[in-house]
Amino acid sequence: MNRDDCLALDAKDTLAPLRDEFDLPEKLIYLDGNSLGPLPHRVCARIEHLVKQEWGADLIKSWNQHDWINLPLTVGEKIAPLVGAAPGQVLCADSTSINLFKVLASACSLSNDRTVILSSDDNFPTDLYMAQGLAELSGKFELKLVRRDELPGALDDSVAVLLLTEVDFRSGLRFDMQSITKAAHDVGSLVVWDLSHSTGAIPVQLDQCDVDFAVGCGYKFLNGGPGAPAYLYVAERHQRNVNQPLSGWMGHARPFDFVSTYEPRAGIARFASGTPGILGLSSLDAALDLWHNIDVESVQAKSVSLANVVKDFLGNDPAFSAMAMIGPGPGHQGGSQVSLRHKHAYAIVQALIEVDVIGDFREPDIVRLGLCPLYLSHLDVFDAMQRLREVLTSEIYLEPGFSERQFVT
Ligand SMILES: *Cc1c(COP(=O)(O)O)cnc(C)c1O
Repeated sequence: MNRDDCLALDAKDTLAPLRDEFDLPEKLIYLDGNSLGPLPHRVCARIEHLVKQEWGADLIKSWNQHDWINLPLTVGEKIAPLVGAAPGQVLCADSTSINLFKVLASACSLSNDRTVILSSDDNFPTDLYMAQGLAELSGKFELKLVRRDELPGALDDSVAVLLLTEVDFRSGLRFDMQSITKAAHDVGSLVVWDLSHSTGAIPVQLDQCDVDFAVGCGYKFLNGGPGAPAYLYVAERHQRNVNQPLSGWMGHARPFDFVSTYEPRAGIARFASGTPGILGLSSLDAALDLWHNIDVESVQAKSVSLANVVKDFLGNDPAFSAMAMIGPGPGHQGGSQVSLRHKHAYAIVQALIEVDVIGDFREPDIVRLGLCPLYLSHLDVFDAMQRLREVLTSEIYLEPGFSERQFVT
């Protein structure tokens, strides 16, 4: 595959015009939208209005006048179609970690005498840490971790909740949500899915898969901005029956009655806790409008096509012989990233940043390239691979500066 092949693919790409929606530095090739999505232009306009008019001029009136108070619900409804959820089941609030605690505790409250929270040992650490904290606090539940291939055998009638992340952050490997949810239900367990690396990258069908609970991240593929709020999904059938332990006033039936006893609001709104952060919510709200005319199937198809450019380099160019792809890459079994293993992965990622290609490093030896189709062209990926080739053949990454670790990798 050469430059002209990439240009030809770009000429046929129906998503190509979306690039103009983003404020990305000219020469930069950004392969890290799966950690922090880039800035959509429309977010700038929205935040300027929010800060100057809604906050600056209209002040506290804005809770009613600009409907700040309902933003967690209205933004939740914008996310719902991206996760295959009918209305009334998605709320945008808090961080993924906090939401995970809320839905996991809710699931546990339906467990009767079952005591096991089951997860895969490679799950994203915050998911495991939050589950550990919940287990300790409860004095009843224990977190059991098994390898992915051991999961089917570990599902039995001791398992209250199966907690999994659909797309693995290291390898991009994807669980089959439909069959695993069914297997869990067959033994009477509930399922919590973390969609942080799924939503906005691959089609997700929560209702169709009969999922019980889910959470996901607002600042990755949804481009809500650094620390933008996350979302949670609770299937309608469970909403009335669970105890949501972070029972703050924003989930109360009548918060402005200021009564001293908690009484949950009807529906998904009971999963709110405290006052929503309107800056992050508004930014995510504006970014979500990008999705009005995009279907996630074509986004996924373009990820596959972009990954073919990477695979072509790996398969045909001896400069990449020390790099091995792990995981399946984009497609039915993978998310939208490509993960490449190399023993100098950290230094290589740092050296790539020097030549204006941003990917990221994941422990222990992974160069992770996020192939987000909303703003990347085939030519971008081709150029990024050329620059990676140059980094590898020159061995510039061996210079000492490139292996100095920073706190955030
Ligand atoms: C990014 C990510 C998170 C992030 O959680 P925060 O609470 O926003 O820090 C959680 N889970 C998974 C699987 C992620 O990829």
